[in-house]
Amino acid sequence: MKVAVIGAGLAGSECSWILAEKYGLSVTLFEMKSQKTTPAQIYPHLYAELVCSNSLKSKSRLNPAGTLKEEILRLGSLIIPSARLAEVPAGETLAVDRELFSGDITKKLKSHKNIKTIDLIVETVEDVLKFGDFSAVVIATGPLTDDALAQDLRKISQSEQLYFYDAIAPILDGDTIDHNVVFLANRQSKTHAYEKKKANEAAILEGLPELDQGEEEGDYLNIPLNKEEYFAFVEKVLNGAKVPHKDFEEPRYFNGCQPIEVLAESGPRTLSFGPMKPKGLTDPRTGNRPYAVAQLRKEKLGDTAWNMVGFQTRLTWGAQKEILRSLPGLSNVEFFRMGSMHRNTYLVSPNILNEDFSFKTNEKLYLAGQVMGVEGYLESAAMGVFIAHVIGNKLTKKKTLTMPPANTSLGCLARYCIYGDKKRFTPMNIHWGLFNELTENDIRKFSVNPEQLLKLKKLDKSTKRELMAARSEELFANWIKEEEL
Ligand code: FAD
Repeated sequence: MKVAVIGAGLAGSECSWILAEKYGLSVTLFEMKSQKTTPAQIYPHLYAELVCSNSLKSKSRLNPAGTLKEEILRLGSLIIPSARLAEVPAGETLAVDRELFSGDITKKLKSHKNIKTIDLIVETVEDVLKFGDFSAVVIATGPLTDDALAQDLRKISQSEQLYFYDAIAPILDGDTIDHNVVFLANRQSKTHAYEKKKANEAAILEGLPELDQGEEEGDYLNIPLNKEEYFAFVEKVLNGAKVPHKDFEEPRYFNGCQPIEVLAESGPRTLSFGPMKPKGLTDPRTGNRPYAVAQLRKEKLGDTAWNMVGFQTRLTWGAQKEILRSLPGLSNVEFFRMGSMHRNTYLVSPNILNEDFSFKTNEKLYLAGQVMGVEGYLESAAMGVFIAHVIGNKLTKKKTLTMPPANTSLGCLARYCIYGDKKRFTPMNIHWGLFNELTENDIRKFSVNPEQLLKLKKLDKSTKRELMAARSEELFANWIKEEEL
């Protein structure tokens, strides 16, 4: 049986390798580099090029990027052994000599007996079908997918599900926010207040208890700013260092997706009429409406991860940390993800993929890597590994691979691509905020002194991470055993 893989980047390389090596399938790998490089690439002869930093993130098992490496290694990863071979000293980070790294991967792929490589700028999926009768086709063309193919993907997904830019807002660790300063509440619209009043009147008429007794909690954490704090914040945003645009990144922003610095540049009060509008919000401690409010919304899959609503930004990571920590209640905040905006081709996978990761419109078609909604070298490679196993199981064992468990790194990413928020879907990196909080059972199971820990109001960060890592390792080991991977 034959499989076509389009794109020999991080995901395409992993996917081709596992299909060929572990499942013995015949793989045809299409790559355009020798004819045309993306604006970010500089090595036309190398597969799996690292286009910017040479880091594959943490090696520590107490960091989900560290556990993700171990997970994909157990699933037969090609890139992790090459990274270890090409490793350069960088403390807890797995950094590599990029030419040695990509050179090793290229050599292994080109010399594999089950892999045929074809140099081609693929313009449509139909193009590759001329090269064989493929049982599956994997699109792994990454954030800078060539234009013609991107248009074809838009057509295939039969909807406006393809994005060319991402607009990513920071995600904060809720455990590090000062909850004595921020307050939980939903914005009350006039209609909402009216409907609530009417519902109460109806309840009283029917002899039922009042509906709005007690304080309404709400879904948003609100950071209240007074006038001085607001204008000081705007000043910092205007003066903060920004990431320069790459030549190929023409700054074209969609309405509603403008970075905070662009809004601030358009006028000092603009943010207070946009993402920082205080309308409908009352600070329960003062009984007043704040001058401005920054809102945090829970990330769907996590318990402690909070997304800064409308705070997409091109401020450098250093500037973001400094400026956002100057907001009330955030002085000690830790970040699960920093904000960013760049050219990025990706599809809204939760809308277009079946639960077995095939396209709803064509069950032989799959996505892998960044184009399916993950972000980063390691995460993209991991999704290449995973999709190879999905296809390998389907074609050689006639079986649907189950989703990796929710509280494993691979499970978090895979689930994000299928069950992520369809309306606000942006490419995701791996972070602890995607994992569920520890339950009492977890603490009993993975701790050596559970009774002592259960007495505590809050676990310290390192204990929590240690237990979450242990839980993740056990779940992953059980999954690969059950699935015979
Ligand atoms: P890629 O690695 O991009 O591979 C896709 C492959 O498909 C490429 O080889 C490309 O040539 C090929 N291709 C594209 N279109 C076609 C076509 N039509 N026909 C044939 N072949 C095609 N991540 C980090 O972790 N750290 C960073 O520092 C970092 N910096 C980045 C800087 C920039 C400017 C960009 C754009 C991205 C950066 N990323 C970074 C993200 C990272 O590049 C991606 O997460 C990762 O490379 C995605 O892997 P992938 O396999 O999905 O795609």
